[in-house]
Amino acid sequence: MVVTRFAPSPTGYLHVGGARTALFSWLWARHTGGKFVLRIEDTDLKRNTPTAMQQVINDLRWLGIEWDEGPEVSEPNGPYLQSQRHQQGIYDKYVNQLLGEGKAYYCFDTSEELEAMREEATDQKQNLTYRRPEIFPDEKDAAKARSEGRPVTVRFAVPQDEDIIVQDIVRGEVKFAASEIGDFIIKKSDGFPTYNFACVVDDYLMKITHVIRGQEHLNNTPGQQALWQALGFGQLPQYVHMSVTVSEGGGKLSKRERPKALRQAIKTIENIDLEKLAQIGNINSEELESFIKGKTTPDMPVIDAMAEYIGVELPEINIVDFLRSGYLPETMVNFLAFLGWNPGDNREIMSIDELVRAFDLSRLTKSNSLFDRQKLIAFNTEHIKMTPREKLLGHLKDYLKTINSPVLSADDEQLKRIIILCEGARTLADIERKSRFLFLENDKIVYDDDAIKKVLLKGDGLDVLKNIQAKIEKFVTNPACRIDGQEKVTAEYTEKLLRSIAEERKVGLGKVAQPLRVALCGGTISISIFEAVEMLGKEKTLARIDNALNVIPAKAGIQKNDDVMDSRVRGNDKKEC
Ligand code: GLU
Repeated sequence: MVVTRFAPSPTGYLHVGGARTALFSWLWARHTGGKFVLRIEDTDLKRNTPTAMQQVINDLRWLGIEWDEGPEVSEPNGPYLQSQRHQQGIYDKYVNQLLGEGKAYYCFDTSEELEAMREEATDQKQNLTYRRPEIFPDEKDAAKARSEGRPVTVRFAVPQDEDIIVQDIVRGEVKFAASEIGDFIIKKSDGFPTYNFACVVDDYLMKITHVIRGQEHLNNTPGQQALWQALGFGQLPQYVHMSVTVSEGGGKLSKRERPKALRQAIKTIENIDLEKLAQIGNINSEELESFIKGKTTPDMPVIDAMAEYIGVELPEINIVDFLRSGYLPETMVNFLAFLGWNPGDNREIMSIDELVRAFDLSRLTKSNSLFDRQKLIAFNTEHIKMTPREKLLGHLKDYLKTINSPVLSADDEQLKRIIILCEGARTLADIERKSRFLFLENDKIVYDDDAIKKVLLKGDGLDVLKNIQAKIEKFVTNPACRIDGQEKVTAEYTEKLLRSIAEERKVGLGKVAQPLRVALCGGTISISIFEAVEMLGKEKTLARIDNALNVIPAKAGIQKNDDVMDSRVRGNDKKEC
């Protein structure tokens, strides 16, 4: 049976690269009816962040990538956290086996000594390969070194008799000279195993048949393969190293893009209050300075908080960024699957079930794939269109919760109506942006300066608004002014009203609808204005028109002048509805 695994080091949010690795491993397990394992590689204490594991778990679940074995699920070969496995002595058992068989040895070098060796190697234009001692130190030597306060590590004596050939499903046969690999550390001075060692032990104990991971790990594979054989683990797993994904700006897609974009943005802002910025990010001013100079990078939540404060949008890289930007999990799965794979026909938009059916390791591509954000938006537009309404409602609610939107106060019926009205939306963020004004208090409407200038102050926008206001007021107070006997200010009524005003003024509908839109929502983009009026109700509609008529001219320094109001509208003639 095929058993694949995803083995993240919980050092931050799950980013697209990690998500793609998880997805390919999961797809292969599902396609073959095998198992998918989640293992948390948390042996680097300095790099682990306490919330990262939970974030990775949440992100995988959001994508719909469920594991058969791993944290919070079934643990037949558990535990699945390497820190816990270390505590149980699992790795020490195998380190001791290698030491006992003379296949590994103790080392006591201090970091200064190692640095000196590195410098020497650099001077001689060579890579540092550790000089293996003629006679391996024994337990007593290790005890002595410990008592002297020297760091005690264990290195694997990489067999030097022959080259190591890795059979990779994507890249074919890849040859490595054993001499290039050098004896590497398998147990660190803090007692923890290194990644290369723990990974091999766990892949064996968890019965992994396919190691699917990014190409950046290809150089780790000969060492891991040699360890596997030295430990007598029998048949090797199949190795699959996926091609590189490049960003549109060129170069490997990297999680550093976000901090880089923020750094640039900070530099372009004049008179930026750095003290406040550091406070927002919960870091001190030295840390902020070092970040701006490009020396260090704070954790992602710090980056996110500072970006939000200065109002800059950073390129999405982490899975949670895509959730926050209004992408559907189905879109992400579809899009990520196409980074280095294709089904071999013309299909591009595929559901998760279709991907599971079509996925095949033999169709992984060697060439780089481009992280094309325009294509991602096109995929999302399609998936929004094809996702069943109930499911889309669930995604929309998740999204609204994530960004803590005022639209959360809408009930399901209202949300469904909004979804219908936002047909063709490219992201859930579009849907939210077009409808959030419906759920804000009147005094929370923020008027967009551009919209005010173009729609209300230029031409007779304010006058049109007064026209509409007067008609709705009359409609409310005077039954004779109702159209077709309707009592509520419905979408249908609003449409008729706006059309009649447009006709009277001999202008296009837009010249009437847009001023109303700006008054109600603050900008020029919203759901259908007719529907908006019905959903807001007449009180809110009138209050917002009134507010716009009071606030906007004052803001623009224009004297409020009732004389501009059309006298026909002012008149009390019943026919003039
Ligand atoms: N913990 C490693 C990483 O996050 C896993 C590499 C592997 O799949 O072997 O890169």
